[in-house]
Amino acid sequence: MNRIHTQGSSGAKLDYSLPNITRVLLVHAGLLFAFKVGISWVAFATFMVTYYVKLFAVSGVFHRYYTHRSYEMGRGFCFLWSFIGCTAGQRGPLSWTTVHSKHHQHSDKKGDPHSPVQRGLFYAHLGWLLAKEPLPTSDALVRKYKDRPEILWLDRHYNVPFIALFVLLYALGAWLESSFPALGTSPGQMMLWGGLASSILLLHSTCSLNSFAHVFGIRVRETPDNSRNLWWLYPFLVGENYHNNHHKFPRSANFGVDKRQYDLLFFVLLVFQKLGLVKNVRDASRTLREKDLLAPEPSLNR
Ligand SMILES: [Zn+2]
Ligand SMILES: [Zn+2]
Repeated sequence: MNRIHTQGSSGAKLDYSLPNITRVLLVHAGLLFAFKVGISWVAFATFMVTYYVKLFAVSGVFHRYYTHRSYEMGRGFCFLWSFIGCTAGQRGPLSWTTVHSKHHQHSDKKGDPHSPVQRGLFYAHLGWLLAKEPLPTSDALVRKYKDRPEILWLDRHYNVPFIALFVLLYALGAWLESSFPALGTSPGQMMLWGGLASSILLLHSTCSLNSFAHVFGIRVRETPDNSRNLWWLYPFLVGENYHNNHHKFPRSANFGVDKRQYDLLFFVLLVFQKLGLVKNVRDASRTLREKDLLAPEPSLNR
């Protein structure tokens, strides 16, 4: 009896997996250790750094590179960022791409793995992670990466980088505790804030695009789905929150295509391009500027 059956908002039968529910609850319950280990300035700084580095790895690399090929990068740099991406606990790059590609293929239609239009806000946010088994990595993607064994390995062993980060944070915390006791930190504190809390916040930020950014916010451009630009997600997603822009221009590495929109993840890619670490970074705003099509009135809200 590992299944819980219920009805979704659209009437579709939802099929939850008890082991998945237990796993997600336990991970969130881990945050209660904050009452035991406390927080310090160095732990807070570690939380911020790990959060935004993981954000770039997931949004800038799993999303913009693997899924949409909005720029190109070399094999070594790609492996480095893919390894970092796995520390976020959102599975491997090809598995992530499999789910997200389905989202674009069937956006807000039958077949979308996490559409609030089809199955309600909760299912789109977290429910899809509790349901059934996760989608297996697509065979086509595995074939595409057959000459990149390091990526196939990483996709299968996504837990290795996730655990490695905890080991690193433990060692860092132990060193800081013994060498700089005035900082008031500990191995437990570093693991909780840098390993667990930053990954949980990032999970909810990413899932907010699937849920809230398909219900609330502004539709600037017509797309066949219900995607929206959602300004209040900006502090958490620094540009990835221009989700309606992204559905309109999925191949663009720049999501902040209109005036007064600043996609910081795109700016990071531009810096990497200047340093010769990535190339051919695509930017839809350039074409829009040339055609004088920037920021039309947001008249599509409905
Ligand atoms: Zn979407
Ligand atoms: Zn996408």
